[in-house]
Amino acid sequence: MSEHHQLTRRGFLGATGALGVAGLGLRDRDHGPLGHHRARRLNRGGEFVVRGATVLTMDPALGDLPTGDVHVRDGEIVDVGPDLRPAGVADLDAKGMIALPGLVETHWHLWTSSARGLSGAESERTYVPLIRSLGPAYEPEDIYRAVRLGLAEGIASGITTVHDWSHNLRGPEWTDAGLRAHVDSGTRARFSYGGPQGQAEEAPIHVAEVERVQREWIASGRAGLVTLGLAVRGPDASAPSAYRVEWEAARALGVPITMHALPREPTDAVQVLGREGLLGSDVQLVHGIYATAADRDLMASTGTTLSVSPASELLFGWGAPQITEMLDAGVGLSLSIDNTMLVGHADPFTGMRLALSLAAVKLGVELAFPPRRVLELATIDGARDLGLDDRIGSLTPGKRADLILVRAGDVNTGPLADPVSTVVRSAQPANVDTVMVDGRILKSGGCLVGADTEQIVADAAASIAAIRRRA
Ligand SMILES: [Zn+2]
Repeated sequence: MSEHHQLTRRGFLGATGALGVAGLGLRDRDHGPLGHHRARRLNRGGEFVVRGATVLTMDPALGDLPTGDVHVRDGEIVDVGPDLRPAGVADLDAKGMIALPGLVETHWHLWTSSARGLSGAESERTYVPLIRSLGPAYEPEDIYRAVRLGLAEGIASGITTVHDWSHNLRGPEWTDAGLRAHVDSGTRARFSYGGPQGQAEEAPIHVAEVERVQREWIASGRAGLVTLGLAVRGPDASAPSAYRVEWEAARALGVPITMHALPREPTDAVQVLGREGLLGSDVQLVHGIYATAADRDLMASTGTTLSVSPASELLFGWGAPQITEMLDAGVGLSLSIDNTMLVGHADPFTGMRLALSLAAVKLGVELAFPPRRVLELATIDGARDLGLDDRIGSLTPGKRADLILVRAGDVNTGPLADPVSTVVRSAQPANVDTVMVDGRILKSGGCLVGADTEQIVADAAASIAAIRRRA
């Protein structure tokens, strides 16, 4: 641990003496039983100035600051600019680092995270057969452990907001376990409720259970930074009688909908949804590899968005996502992790680089798709896709303090020329020094705060071993 960070922490201690040890960014080794002490061990944040960073606000009105500060108070960004000097406020030294909004991913099956790398080339072990065989063997604690692992990797990688596409909820205890993992991890999330693996095509999602989640977790405030969505199967994988009930329930409850669309082959799913009046700005489709021009126009005219997962779409063998095609048609687009069961990692920097490269290949010109546009997809556009752009996605005064610091002087990031290019073309999760969500420090000096990573990995390993025995 460098002297630099110790100085930073002393600065914190001076101004925020009420914080516990975890609040100082020290690694928490007193793990205790998973799921019971995490939330209160996370620091509350307080007030500080992120000082001396190269600041990429991702806010067009504020632009980039070659050297600038971000003043945070009670989880809110109160000021961004050069040489901020609020009286009596501690510094968080960010010299040599790039400050930018936390990365936002928009479709991730976190419940499969313990099964990292398990899907392989043999037909019975490919992704879909594997989640169908393992899914019914999940107990609630397995959901908890998988989500904790996925979110720990996400935080380590600079992701501050996830869209948990939770399509193996087998009863209220499974749902509660997943939500508890989010609250205990401290990340921001949309939790999209999905039915269990193996659900009959005619059976809709358990609507009363979604109502319970909205009442007991969301309306009560117990879910903290988590909002609710509905993960549906749609016309390609469920009966009209099922998906119509799901759409009606989601719209009655006012929760957004997400659905896999056109991943493996051309179908008319988008047109079917359009004819039935089911598209809209409350609908996010995922993948869209085989979308036609008519599909794109329909999505754009209805405000339907698309989440693409370049790393998984390539490894599944489906092809390159329609990044420039969708953007040119006016469709709102964002980037997602999808899963680590096939992809093996949740590295958003790899995702950005794949998006950059695949768009350039389609355009046929060196770097024709700008790195800044890719970084927008991974920050403000992701926030917009999840309906959170009034709260996050840019370093704008008044927004919540979801921010990361990327070291710009490491052997793979220095010398610093264009900071946007450094983030998109050079950086890796290992360069992410600090991660902050809602003003709370979840990673500091390259270590997770308030999370025992060895325990999280060991718990996930025990969980997946037991699942495989039961499956
Ligand atoms: Zn998916």
